[in-house]
Amino acid sequence: MSRIFPSSHPLVAHKLSLLRDIDTEPKKFRELIREISALLAYEATSDLVLHQVSIPTPLATATGNVLSEKIGLVPILRSGLGMVEGIWSLMPSAEVWHIGMYRDEISLKPVAYYNKLPVEPTVSVCLLLDPMLATGGSAVAAVDILKRWGVKKIKFVGILAAPQGIKNLQIHHPDIPIHIAGIDETLNDRGYILPGLGDAGDRQFGTG
Ligand code: URA
Repeated sequence: MSRIFPSSHPLVAHKLSLLRDIDTEPKKFRELIREISALLAYEATSDLVLHQVSIPTPLATATGNVLSEKIGLVPILRSGLGMVEGIWSLMPSAEVWHIGMYRDEISLKPVAYYNKLPVEPTVSVCLLLDPMLATGGSAVAAVDILKRWGVKKIKFVGILAAPQGIKNLQIHHPDIPIHIAGIDETLNDRGYILPGLGDAGDRQFGTG
């Protein structure tokens, strides 16, 4: 069963409360998404593999460590977009690959509409970014795509999850760790997380 890592960091909890607030306007909302994402990515990357290198300092030679793994950030469009910038600032050499997925309002099933991944994988570890793990349909479909692409190590990084989404992702992809700022109670009949924060895309882009 995939491991679930709800953040216990006080900064994440504080920022998540601000993010939920209906009075938080899009500029502040985007800022909070950026900051929470960076904190979650810091936690999610604590097991990245390093190798030793020799570094000439102005005085002598030091033994240092550099990342061995090539990282890919994979936001699910459109609401995953806002999670990229904060994480990218921590790992600027990461590649960013977009996957376009929307949820059909009737069936609530994910529909893939954008994927320009090259034939061969160019990264060894992917952080799959979607703020809301609601039904889990988009996350399951995106992980399917990344596994077919050939990525060996995939981690899901999100802001809020519902138990239904966690279960769905765990059933279909038990090997994928889930890093999340908070876990809420349930979904409403339109597949929105309750109490949640509303539509993460609309609240970022001011389209609500
Ligand atoms: N997507 C959102 O933006 N919000 C939810 O609550 C669920 C899915």
